[in-house]
Amino acid sequence: MPTDTVPPFFAAHGLSKHFGGIRAVADLSLEIDQGEIIGLIGPNGSGKTTSINMLAGALHPDSGSIRLAGMALNGQPAHFFARHGVARTFQVPRLFRRMSVLENLVVPALSNPRASRAHAERKAREVLEFLRLDRLTHEYARALSGGQQKLLEVGRALMLEPRLILLDEPFAGVHPRLLEQIIDHIKALNRQGLTIMIVDHNLDAIRSVVRRTAVMARGVKIADGAADDVLRDPDVVHAYTGSRKDREGRAHG
Ligand code: ADP
Ligand code: MG
Repeated sequence: MPTDTVPPFFAAHGLSKHFGGIRAVADLSLEIDQGEIIGLIGPNGSGKTTSINMLAGALHPDSGSIRLAGMALNGQPAHFFARHGVARTFQVPRLFRRMSVLENLVVPALSNPRASRAHAERKAREVLEFLRLDRLTHEYARALSGGQQKLLEVGRALMLEPRLILLDEPFAGVHPRLLEQIIDHIKALNRQGLTIMIVDHNLDAIRSVVRRTAVMARGVKIADGAADDVLRDPDVVHAYTGSRKDREGRAHG
């Protein structure tokens, strides 16, 4: 088969979502290559979480399509996306606070009727070791720090053995020491072949992880390209700071 007929790894086209009168996302198109690590940034309320929700199947778009290796995912329930390898984390970790760290990984895995407890537990211990949370295996989730909860949230997504993982603000509210660890884990996962999209506000953290980033403002993708270029783009700076600045940082009002 000639290479130009190979469908993109992950492709969203023309995704839109309204909530009543609010246009949360308008006509979002985004392609992600296999093995890529891409950022999605933008000011508060610009539509990043709504986009992740659509890309992970948690929200049905009003229009548009989502394909994984050519297979249409749109219109399918979230568990269908998950079963085909699209996993996500939540901006606010959705943990079982009164369960142990281990159970937080095992219990969701057992919602798949074909999963065995022994297998799920083995996988969970592997994930905890990878994330260096293994010494917390039997702690209550609620006893973890904010950053450790973010890591555990990543662990839950990893239990699905995903092909693509969508991380919603993995750096927000994380202690700087743990931030470096989370960045290292994300890089290691990517080196192992996992395709990753990171939504975050922390531009320095994003810049240290991704080569490419897309930018949203008021529901619209306004830039998409090499992170260094995009973060210097006057329109992007304007979207973030509300003031127009050139490459040297001089304000133009
Ligand atoms: P971001 O993640 O970039 O901060 P969101 O995707 O959460 O942005 O929100 C985009 C816009 O959509 C905001 O104006 C927000 O208030 C609105 N919005 C998001 N989710 C809902 C919802 N469930 N109901 C109504 N409005 C929503
Ligand atoms: Mg958000």
